[in-house]
Amino acid sequence: MSWSEEGTKFIRRSTPIENYNRIKICFTNAQLYALVLHNLIIFCMNYFNLHTHSYFCDGKEAPEEYVKRAIVLGYHTLGFSSHAPVPFENNFSLKEDRMDEYVTAIRALGEKYKGKINILLSMEIDYIPGITRNIADFKSVGSLDYTIGGVHLVRTKEKEDLWFIDGPKQESYDLGLNNLFNGNIRKGVEAYYNQVMEMILTQKPDIIAHLDKIKMHNKNRFFAEDEKWYRDLVWKTLKCITDESDCIVEVNTRGLYKKRSDTFFPGPEILEQLHHLKIPVTLSSDAHLPLELNGYCEEALVLLKEIGFKELIYFNSSGRVKQNI
Ligand SMILES: [Zn+2]
Ligand SMILES: [Zn+2]
Repeated sequence: MSWSEEGTKFIRRSTPIENYNRIKICFTNAQLYALVLHNLIIFCMNYFNLHTHSYFCDGKEAPEEYVKRAIVLGYHTLGFSSHAPVPFENNFSLKEDRMDEYVTAIRALGEKYKGKINILLSMEIDYIPGITRNIADFKSVGSLDYTIGGVHLVRTKEKEDLWFIDGPKQESYDLGLNNLFNGNIRKGVEAYYNQVMEMILTQKPDIIAHLDKIKMHNKNRFFAEDEKWYRDLVWKTLKCITDESDCIVEVNTRGLYKKRSDTFFPGPEILEQLHHLKIPVTLSSDAHLPLELNGYCEEALVLLKEIGFKELIYFNSSGRVKQNI
């Protein structure tokens, strides 16, 4: 985990509810050490992470290394969520012919560490209309304990190419925006949220991954998140969740510790709306390394409590469980 000396940004809610102050927290090494200790002692006791990538997909280490780290952190539950196979060449997903091996490996860890930590099996399943398999198929084939649905690749009806909105490279985002939408950001963002809504309606994942990931490479270059059309689109998506599903929205901390975003996915304003609409949330670090398991989770908890959330949702082998915060 690398943190810059000049620090990073973290947005907390101020009053009145609609206004936020941007607070810059600068970490010296001593402060960072204190924060990590604080994480270990206060936050990490009795918590969990449901969004974890190991070397079965684009994560970096063996699943057992994450289990060992989670035990050190005092987690009661760790869920593995490899990117589900997709029917085209790529360097991020689990390969179709390794599905059984993945399922067997995670279940074996569950047995090995029984009594110390609950190990759950899941997948982060891409939704690309007309291309990806149904989430329900993956759930039954792998006997998954829960499912995470996400949009990383946006499809249009007109073109064959997909718009890759994730990953480390801003250039791929810009290239896709130009190729698929002639640089029209509003069209691109509408296509993204429409695909998310279609996923909610047709796939009903247990958890929706990084709801506003589309903002990551925008960096206020093409649109501002307080523009009316953007807010209306997000609101429509949230209404789709409440009216048409019982999906949980994840609060994903990866953008912050990877320094790709200065807020969580989703950001504070959307979190406020989630709270207002009583949409359940969970907290995930989307770890691709064992050291990322608790990245920025304490800060997320502070923000969630400030907004008024009283609980997070996680899973056990029987289904959803509430964790008071
Ligand atoms: Zn993702
Ligand atoms: Zn992920």
